[in-house]
Amino acid sequence: MAEQDYYKILGVSKSASEDEIKSAYRKLAKQYHPDLYSGKPAAEKSAAEAKFKEISRAYDCLGDSQKRAQYDQFGSEDGPLGGGAGGAGGGFWRSGGGGMGGFEDIFSNIFSSAFSGGGRRAQNNVIDGDDITVTLTLAFKEAAFGCTKEVPINRVESCSECGGTGAKSTNSVKQCPKCRGTGVMTQTLNTPFGQMATTKTCDQCGGRGKIITDPCKVCNGSGRIKKVRTLNVSVPAGIDNNQVMTYYNQGNSGFNGGRNGSVLIVINVRPHKLFVRKGSDLYIDVPITMTQAALGCKILIPTLESPVSYAISEGAQNGQQFRIKGYGIKNFKRETRGDLYVKLTVEIPKNLSSKERDMLRGLENTLGANQYPAQKEFLENIKEI
Ligand SMILES: [Zn+2]
Ligand SMILES: [Zn+2]
Repeated sequence: MAEQDYYKILGVSKSASEDEIKSAYRKLAKQYHPDLYSGKPAAEKSAAEAKFKEISRAYDCLGDSQKRAQYDQFGSEDGPLGGGAGGAGGGFWRSGGGGMGGFEDIFSNIFSSAFSGGGRRAQNNVIDGDDITVTLTLAFKEAAFGCTKEVPINRVESCSECGGTGAKSTNSVKQCPKCRGTGVMTQTLNTPFGQMATTKTCDQCGGRGKIITDPCKVCNGSGRIKKVRTLNVSVPAGIDNNQVMTYYNQGNSGFNGGRNGSVLIVINVRPHKLFVRKGSDLYIDVPITMTQAALGCKILIPTLESPVSYAISEGAQNGQQFRIKGYGIKNFKRETRGDLYVKLTVEIPKNLSSKERDMLRGLENTLGANQYPAQKEFLENIKEI
């Protein structure tokens, strides 16, 4: 779905030049232009129309060097935002760790069984490669500002020695004698309801239709080998916990024409000691002393970058909150940043000496009820109970 192969649609190679892409598009667009189908049956007309749309979409992406670069990297012209071309279920982002498999896989299963009757799979043993899920743990700031990471991937690849055939040479591949190359065994059963034909996968060749007389030494005839590859992941600024980056085509190799799986990178962000993140906003608790609260003060508020000086006016209260605009985290969908919410916590001194106690009592004796409005109101309300 989402990884609709635009190159394939236009019939060009991945390394095609801009001119090659343009001329391939022109040729196809002429061939499928809706005007040519005006007098044709409805089915033919709508098929051509769908094809024309597909071609246009592919060219819209590949004809634009920036979109094309995004597409090459992310499998979508929208880059990390993804989803534009594929519609529902598509896209580079899927939220939630539980999103693996999901719509695309369901769809591709329906698709392959509906259009190939399921038999195609058995006969040619077309196997899609599995997706690989990796958790990538990031420091808080790495998620906030983006970073590049080298992620090791353990994957199954097609053996390069034998080209995935599992055979030492082309001469060591023979047609399976049991199924005569069909990959399936047909059995006719006599049942009370009459004769019934059943087919099952050939057990000698496992449905491949071929047997190998002299297996490849590198992969021992399996056609596949395990490899550790390094995926260079560029994590966009503003990524958050449980978001999933999908690298199409980078998972386990498909076989006999099956698609390669994807690599799904599930993001895990380590918490920060000072900042709590909610969406693109940050929250921090800043302790100030009783005296700083009473008299007002200038304090340095830590941010993810350099600290910001902030004037607290006198009479600040415990729990009082203010916002420093633009010091949150970049929203990866937009060029905007969240805000930093600062909550003051007034710290009351402990372990006072007797002299300090006396000084505090002396101060308290000079203060009137009007200087403690909350307590004053509280005491008045008590009288009304
Ligand atoms: Zn091999
Ligand atoms: Zn066979």
